[in-house]
Amino acid sequence: MGLIVQKFGGTSVGSAEKIQNAANRAIAEKKQGHQVVVVVSAMGKSTDSLVSLAKQITAQPSKREMDMLLATGEQVTISLLSMALQEQGYDAVSYTGWQAGIRTEHVHGNARITDINTSAVEDQLSEGKIVVVAGFQGMTEEGQITTLGRGGSDTTAVALAAALKADKCDIYTDVPGVFTTDPRYVKSARKLSGISYDEMLELANLGAGVLHPRAVEFAKNYLVPLEVRSSTETEAGTLIEEEPSMEQNLIVRGIAFEDQITRVTVSGLANGLTTLSTIFTALAKRNINVDIIIQTAAGDNKTGISFSVKSEDTDNTVAVLDEYKDALKFDQIETESKLAKVSIVGSGMVSNPGVAAEMFAVLAKKNIQVKMVSTSEIKVSTVISENDMVKAVEALHDAFELSKQASVV
Ligand code: ADP
Ligand code: ASP
Ligand code: MG
Repeated sequence: MGLIVQKFGGTSVGSAEKIQNAANRAIAEKKQGHQVVVVVSAMGKSTDSLVSLAKQITAQPSKREMDMLLATGEQVTISLLSMALQEQGYDAVSYTGWQAGIRTEHVHGNARITDINTSAVEDQLSEGKIVVVAGFQGMTEEGQITTLGRGGSDTTAVALAAALKADKCDIYTDVPGVFTTDPRYVKSARKLSGISYDEMLELANLGAGVLHPRAVEFAKNYLVPLEVRSSTETEAGTLIEEEPSMEQNLIVRGIAFEDQITRVTVSGLANGLTTLSTIFTALAKRNINVDIIIQTAAGDNKTGISFSVKSEDTDNTVAVLDEYKDALKFDQIETESKLAKVSIVGSGMVSNPGVAAEMFAVLAKKNIQVKMVSTSEIKVSTVISENDMVKAVEALHDAFELSKQASVV
């Protein structure tokens, strides 16, 4: 007998019928003799609907009230799924995040889980119940409701699996696994049988929405065996593990992309020792996440900086820089929006020089201008025009032969 944590995303619990289907998946594991915890998201697109409801009331809702509102979505699903299980004669109980002992830091809208007191869930499991837990939510030490950021139910599931020392965490979703790139955009994308924690972490951080990045972080840190699989088909999904045994060690494993990126360029900056720290400390204090940073030398003791931010942060970024105009003594700020970041990821890059060069050559051949670049041991990211994003991903997918079935080693 083992302990299995299952997670069902929004589409997979988007109707009464789909909730029945999720119940059947939980029952199938229970029938195998396992203890079962099920983590669920809000039904369908209901989180989006709650966000747009709030926007009809105010342009800038308080973050605390936003969490209060969004946390209701998952509570609808936990009660309905428990009812579906009870209807089929199984003992089930629904728990909110805080009832399940999920404690978070005091940050509204994007809180990190700090610890989990699993005793209540364990008591229910030992009584033979299927425990249904609301994803995406927790509570601070002071008793405030928080949410974990969009897509955060994955993190609830993996963190619970780690805390309960589960034998497995299955993420049921609307695609049959992790693909070489988003199969909604690239028809030739191929399902991977396995991928390493590190590669998955890069892909998730670089925009592959299939898993919440913090979920992968938890899985890597606690070595949680994780599988992403279809909620409607029974085929095996993708295993996320230390060393994927069923996949060849390809140079490029996958391609991630993200749109709505803006490049901010500040020119004619005084080239002082503290220039960089002044800019980026000010932005960090306002919670503005800066991604790629490029510094350019200019004559006359002047310097220039370009960096990328999410487009939604553009106005705030410019406002913060303007506040520091006297200290920074820059000439001007320029912004370019409608950009996208396209990244190739693969652990084989570490030992293969020339991957970035090949990427640039592929993009040049397609007449795609690269505006910014950033690399790490296992990824190369380029910032390009949003209009070229899908074309670039398709070209790179072809050039690195990602749709070819890798031979098993
Ligand atoms: P859920 O509601 O189940 O959490 P999500 O919409 O968050 O589902 O994640 C699944 C979606 O992730 C897929 O429908 C797909 O469009 C997208 N996706 C992005 N990159 C990938 C990838 N590399 N492999 C599979 N799916 C991907
Ligand atoms: N319901 C939340 C969202 O839509 C959390 C999740 O689905 O993982 O972002
Ligand atoms: Mg998701």
